[in-house]
Amino acid sequence: MINIPKGTKDVLPSDSRKWQYAEDKLRKVAALYNAREIRTPTFEHTELFVRSIGDETDVVSKEMYTFEDKGGRSITLRPEGTAPVARSYVENALESMSLPLKTYYIISAFRYERPQAGRLREFHQFGSEIYGASSPYLDLDCITFAYDALRALGLKGIKLKLNSIGCANCRKKYTEALRAYFAERLDEMCPTCRERYGRNALRLLDCKVPRCKEIAAGAPVILDYLCDDCRAHHEKLCSLLDCSGIPYEVDGGIVRGLDYYTRTVFEFVTEELGAQGTVLGGGRYDDLVESIGGKPTGCVGFAMGMERAIMLMEKQGVDFGKDGVDVFVISQSPDLVGTCMEIVSDLRHAGISADTEMTGRSMKAQFKYADKQNAAYVVVIGGSETESGQVKVKRLSDGKEVECGINGIAACVKENIQWQNL
Ligand code: ATP
Ligand code: MG
Repeated sequence: MINIPKGTKDVLPSDSRKWQYAEDKLRKVAALYNAREIRTPTFEHTELFVRSIGDETDVVSKEMYTFEDKGGRSITLRPEGTAPVARSYVENALESMSLPLKTYYIISAFRYERPQAGRLREFHQFGSEIYGASSPYLDLDCITFAYDALRALGLKGIKLKLNSIGCANCRKKYTEALRAYFAERLDEMCPTCRERYGRNALRLLDCKVPRCKEIAAGAPVILDYLCDDCRAHHEKLCSLLDCSGIPYEVDGGIVRGLDYYTRTVFEFVTEELGAQGTVLGGGRYDDLVESIGGKPTGCVGFAMGMERAIMLMEKQGVDFGKDGVDVFVISQSPDLVGTCMEIVSDLRHAGISADTEMTGRSMKAQFKYADKQNAAYVVVIGGSETESGQVKVKRLSDGKEVECGINGIAACVKENIQWQNL
């Protein structure tokens, strides 16, 4: 037997409804926010991620699925959605559309990580990227979008943590302070941190090694090093959030694992998923578009981990509804299968989902199967029904039967559905 690759998952027919339920809710929230879907390829030139995410980040240095294609190009399966969408924005000159431009996506992403609950090698994200967005009102809009997306999934008890990591200017001063702090503790830190110290000291803040984490917890916080403009932006956003009623906490420890962020960074976290508690992360990235060849563009975005969100929905007992078929047509004898298939075909063309027995099983087995399929109604077709042209439509939830013409099943079921919805 050939097994599924480590860190990947099948979504089985019994579970796909959960995904469809979640995706449907998220698309509806996106429409409420006037965001339009964008679809980019599953793979990109490796250079895009190295340049935008940063070669000292875990994602680029350890987690990317990179390979050479048959034409000798270095290709990488996307580890996230922000850089590909920015690439598309620049390449397709989307700035010529009226700005701000709000996009959203539901994608698979790939990272070579140690698989655990809520951490996979192929995972999925719902995300949004907003372009032409320098004002803190757009930070607010983006955070509210993320918050409403989580709420639309029925999730509760998720906390918003907010921070500002300033701009390149604030970071110069801050990096000096960080280096001075880490210099005295470097011999206690992991080899990766020691290596990164000289090149990108900011990355030492999101090392996952427990001792490094402890040391990082005591490091100076960037909030104390913000320039006037970045401070004003952060304070304005905080005051807007205060008015919005979204509860949040400013947490100087939130730095995010990707280099492209500037100013606002945020995470929505839960305590119910153990170590993989960040359900959604995002922030502002005002330098990214320029760094990949576009004009300077204020941008803000977020990405939600779909597996984590669905795990939490399951934990919190969200009702995903049930898959089912409207009508199951039971055939009393194998020679009536053709007739049953015609009836089913008419029902389907009338917009009623329907199925029938095609394997010649007993009536009892057919009733059992209909039940397993969550059929709402069954219709038994036998000799007398075909002769008289009259059938009984039985509602399985309460056993109630309604008689109608053999050609009137669709209308009868529709009436019943309407009646049920009253
Ligand atoms: P973490 O700190 O948990 O590794 P991250 O900061 O690397 O997360 P982001 O790059 O911000 O994650 O991605 C946004 C969201 O995507 C995360 O908050 C998480 O919900 C989800 N996510 C990231 N990596 C994985 C993964 N390997 N498996 C499942 N979900 C993931
Ligand atoms: Mg990660």
